[in-house]
Amino acid sequence: MADKLLHQIDSVLIVDDSPIQRSFAAELCQELGIELIYQANNGVEALALLDLLKMKPTIMMIDLEMPAMDGIELIQQLQELNYQIPLVIASSREESLISSVTSMTAALGQTLLGGLKKPLHLNQLVQILNRLEQPNHARPKDKLSPLVEQLTEQDLLLAISNREVVPYFQPKVDINTGMLKGVEALARWIHPELGIIPPDFFIPMAEQSDQIIRLLTLAIAEQSIAQCAIWNERSLQISCAINLSPRLLSSLSFFQEIAKLPPLHHVPNQQIIWEVTESSVVNNLGAALGTLARLRLKGFGLSIDDYGTGFSSMQQLARIPFTELKIDQSFVNGAHERNNLAIILQSAIEMANRLGMSTVAEGIETLEDWRLLQRFGCNIGQGYFIGRPMPAKDLFNWLKTHNQRLAEIKK
Ligand code: C2E
Ligand code: CA
Ligand code: CA
Repeated sequence: MADKLLHQIDSVLIVDDSPIQRSFAAELCQELGIELIYQANNGVEALALLDLLKMKPTIMMIDLEMPAMDGIELIQQLQELNYQIPLVIASSREESLISSVTSMTAALGQTLLGGLKKPLHLNQLVQILNRLEQPNHARPKDKLSPLVEQLTEQDLLLAISNREVVPYFQPKVDINTGMLKGVEALARWIHPELGIIPPDFFIPMAEQSDQIIRLLTLAIAEQSIAQCAIWNERSLQISCAINLSPRLLSSLSFFQEIAKLPPLHHVPNQQIIWEVTESSVVNNLGAALGTLARLRLKGFGLSIDDYGTGFSSMQQLARIPFTELKIDQSFVNGAHERNNLAIILQSAIEMANRLGMSTVAEGIETLEDWRLLQRFGCNIGQGYFIGRPMPAKDLFNWLKTHNQRLAEIKK
């Protein structure tokens, strides 16, 4: 339930200059069964208290606007003094200010549970505090066995040639009708002893070397396109999106290698969409443009991945022949309850649609976000709400269950 802590929290330090706000926050914490509640009037007091306490508080809740030392300086001081206490930022100031401080906090390397706009609500506080025991729960990387950490580039190379690196497929569906439109191929390393290793671990490793990332991408592309051919034969005509690493965009021979794969498998080029991240294109525009334009000339779809994370303007991107805009999950996930995200989302969708691009929202996890995107005129949705990445053999089964849900998700 929304108003229960998943795990006991022993103590909290609330730093706020307003006695009323402080005691309100303390009441909420009490209600949640937190036994030790310390309070400080401002940053200076908080640091003095921390210095005195043998057992540091489990978490700290910090207001931003305070006389003498504001919340931002306090967080910087905590960093300098090497305190690692999970933080919650609570402020009555605007969401954009709170979110820039949360970004700063994360960039400093401090553990941040989240930012809250005052007045505080019990269930929002619970949601944030429940992140404590499971930081980054969405990222399986944290649970990797230490043996995985010991794998080397050589192991990866061997795995690629042994076909242990395979694509999983995540559905992309029409956001109004719920119909399956395509899939995105996402690499998984199926290690014979260690199990499924996620791409967050081995893609950065592959990207250390032109040769490895080239072989990995070709292996994923080849298997995905072969799979597309099988689906076509079974009358499932869907697009398949494949991720390209920025390193590959400047290579002429790489372009030739991927361009010949679809004809080899009798799959029309139009069915394949190459995804490149926004930042990778903008950071080496000169080199990337040639490859992108030639892929487009051949009829492939081209998608801007992780849109919104790369600080580029839509004007810059409009000069590149993209057919699709994929809005990063950080703007999608939770948008229905964060007005600022929703505004960015809506304007990105409108602009892309006006430029003739198809819009994809990734990371949809709830019906509420799904409905919001329908209202904003987004074309395609992708996310755990619809389906997780899965091995090719599971797609037809998924489709059966999904078709039974269509009535619920249709506009
Ligand atoms: P990406 O291209 O942005 O892929 C989307 C990621 O979001 C996938 O993570 C997917 O499983 C995850 N995701 C999808 N829906 C949801 C949702 O509703 N909630 C949450 N929390 N996450 C969701 P995955 O599979 O772990 O891949 C991570 C990244 O690794 C990819 O991000 C991509 O950048 C990279 N990657 C994966 N496969 C390849 C590949 O074959 N080549 C290259 N160059 N990069 C790849
Ligand atoms: Ca992608
Ligand atoms: Ca993405």
